Amino acid sequence: MKKALVLGAGGFIGSHIVNNLKSRGYWVRGADIKLPEFEASNADDFILADLRKQYSVDQVLDIYFDEVYQLAADMGGAGYINTNLYDADVMHNSATINLNVLDAAHKMGVPQAFFSSSACVYNEHLQSNTSNPDCREESAYPAFPDSEYGWEKLFTERLFLAYNRQHGMKNKVARFHNIFGPLGTWQGGKEKSPAAICRKIAYAKSGDEIEIWGDGNQTRSFLYIDECVDGVMRLMQSESFNGPVNIGSDIMISINDLVTIVADIAGKDIRVKHIDGPQGVRGRNSNNDLIYEKLNWKPGRGASLMNGLENTYKWIEQEVQKNAR
Ligand code: NAD
Repeated sequence: MKKALVLGAGGFIGSHIVNNLKSRGYWVRGADIKLPEFEASNADDFILADLRKQYSVDQVLDIYFDEVYQLAADMGGAGYINTNLYDADVMHNSATINLNVLDAAHKMGVPQAFFSSSACVYNEHLQSNTSNPDCREESAYPAFPDSEYGWEKLFTERLFLAYNRQHGMKNKVARFHNIFGPLGTWQGGKEKSPAAICRKIAYAKSGDEIEIWGDGNQTRSFLYIDECVDGVMRLMQSESFNGPVNIGSDIMISINDLVTIVADIAGKDIRVKHIDGPQGVRGRNSNNDLIYEKLNWKPGRGASLMNGLENTYKWIEQEVQKNAR
């Protein structure tokens, strides 16, 4: 039986990775500084650990694993990473985790670790208008990410691939673009735009107004969690391709469009009030040429976004109702 370690298993994407590995017969250890918030972990073993501490990382990596999935990070949506308020924490905490984890994995003889990088690595100047952002993988250099979160991700991408060159590991790096779905943070300041919009609309009555940061014309693409996990597993199974590669949808929509779609799903008439707030880059979209070329796969189009948003809205609506009780 193969053994996998999922770091950040108390979080959104980590929980789904654990579920996927369990469904494929792996023995799974999860680790996180917190327990999963919304449902118990399906991992065989779950260790509460602060991965900024090398001795905690050594305890988590005290046995051999065939695969390590490194998703633990100090992260959040625009309200967290684009405000300058938490920049030192974001850089220090995530870089320390990544340095500790990779060193311990290498010393334990782990052959392969996955690193979840982000679309936030891309050059701000190539994402300055809403209609044609350039997020081809090679466009990340010369580098000019718009957040310190993005700079830390670029450093760690390089770290994971340096261990491949120097130590013969087969680490893999993906750049996620706005992953959403059930079990994701939906309140508290670290939530991302799909969850925030679902929450605001779930709390609203038909005819109410919700607040949106900026003019709402800023564009993004959104990928449902099941497709994200599928992409991660295909990358891990590739014999010859390590990335960095985008895992994201290439259906670009504006934040105003996202509000309209979620309001339709909710069956509510929602008005939008645009207010000042952190927005990040003006336009961003996944370019999926490389993933298609290397893995002969890319995320699906239209239906998966709509089904994903329906599932996510229903889940957040239930969470809102639970909170109200
Ligand atoms: P998340 O916040 O739900 O999960 C991250 C987990 O890391 C949390 O459970 C958190 O408790 C844990 N963590 C933080 N500090 C820790 C520490 N010191 N020790 C142990 N655990 C710690 O976020 P997510 O959306 O599941 O993201 C997972 C990964 O994917 C992150 O690396 C993130 O940067 C990356 N990513 C996510 C998205 C997205 O749209 N969700 C986009 C790009 C990249």
